[in-house]
Amino acid sequence: MLQSQLFTKTSRAVSADEVSVNARLLAQAGFIDKQLAGVYSFLPLGLRVLRRIEQIVREEMLALNAQELLMPVLHPKANWEQTGRWDTYDTLFRFVSYHSKNDYALGPTHEEIVAPLAKKFILSYQDLPRYVFQIQTKFRDEKRAKSGLLRGREFLMKDLYSFHCDEADLDSYYERAQAAYVRVFERMGLGEDTVLTFASGGTFAKYSHEFQTLIPAGEDTIYLCADCRVAVNKEIISEQPTCPNCGAAELTETVGAEVGNIFKLKTKYSAPFALQYKDQAGKEHDVVMGCYGIGISRLMGVLAEKFHDDKGLRWPEPVAPYQVHLIRLGEEEKVTEQAAAAYHTLHQAGVEVLYDDRTESAGVKFKDADLIGIPWRLVVSEKTAGRFELKSRSEESVTLLDLKEVLNKFSVRP
Ligand code: ATP
Ligand code: MG
Repeated sequence: MLQSQLFTKTSRAVSADEVSVNARLLAQAGFIDKQLAGVYSFLPLGLRVLRRIEQIVREEMLALNAQELLMPVLHPKANWEQTGRWDTYDTLFRFVSYHSKNDYALGPTHEEIVAPLAKKFILSYQDLPRYVFQIQTKFRDEKRAKSGLLRGREFLMKDLYSFHCDEADLDSYYERAQAAYVRVFERMGLGEDTVLTFASGGTFAKYSHEFQTLIPAGEDTIYLCADCRVAVNKEIISEQPTCPNCGAAELTETVGAEVGNIFKLKTKYSAPFALQYKDQAGKEHDVVMGCYGIGISRLMGVLAEKFHDDKGLRWPEPVAPYQVHLIRLGEEEKVTEQAAAAYHTLHQAGVEVLYDDRTESAGVKFKDADLIGIPWRLVVSEKTAGRFELKSRSEESVTLLDLKEVLNKFSVRP
């Protein structure tokens, strides 16, 4: 991508009402734009990050044998009445159609859609287990949407639903899902700072599990075991004051951002929709369900909170918008030709490059590069004399390479 053609520009100005670090940095660097509290546009650079997060999540869900689908955002009132949540779901956006006068909701989650949907296809024990997921925009009328991408009123979530004959089968899939979640966060560079957290299981199960990333901007209070790095959520700490994993007595209060959670729903949503299957003897049973969420857009905010310094963003390679930021300093013909040829060669090789071909000072270009936070900076100037100065966003040292060495350094990202 030629930076001179990029839709966005960086800005030094900080919007006065943007208090969160992630939203401030992401807006300044041109990744997102705030429409209203908790509602953002994802701009070309930001969308590239969002898509990479999505893709990591998608790959791990497919590896769990889940099938991707896309359910509607617009929900009829009847489905929400069926589970009793039309009146009790406190962040549900509800509205009346101007024409038909019917009531609708904007989907904050999809149990009310997926259970009746599954009823059309799951009839007997032979149709189980089944797993489906989507990556879909959710709407929630959140009271406090002041944390940028950490708490949207419109946000992107991955939600997976599993359907089983019995609890034993749910339990074993739940374990697999938990392991897949660990891989998702590891692949994004959040492995070390994301902890499994025991939370309330609601009315059906003893626990549910959250994945909490330890960042100061996190909105949840959790109690962390120093020995095994497992935590307990605030809502159950009085019932569970010791480490549920190793029994250690001392848990330390800290804050986290919930990036995902997994929940044994059992028959909570199958029962109201009479989602049942026939066993081998022809007897009907409620289908047993699990649900598994990951906050895709929240993760982008968490990554910005975790990976930045006073100069700007510092993306981990697997989620960076581009792999290389090629920067040309000066307008001399030799330099211009060298930079253009390098851009072409890298691009042809499948390396994702943002090429700063603008007529700007070195100061402006370096400041912008630091703000945008692409992992590798590649400088071409009169001074580099036909070679390239390579520098990592997170280190000060530079190395001088020729084009072949540059090409060897970068492999095509999956
Ligand atoms: P929270 O306690 O943070 O409100 P939740 O328990 O309501 O989250 P779920 O309903 O289980 O969350 O949603 C699944 C995932 O979606 C969460 O783990 C989180 O990562 C993400 N998520 C939930 N609410 C929001 C939001 N308002 N903005 C962005 N992401 C969200
Ligand atoms: Mg919530």
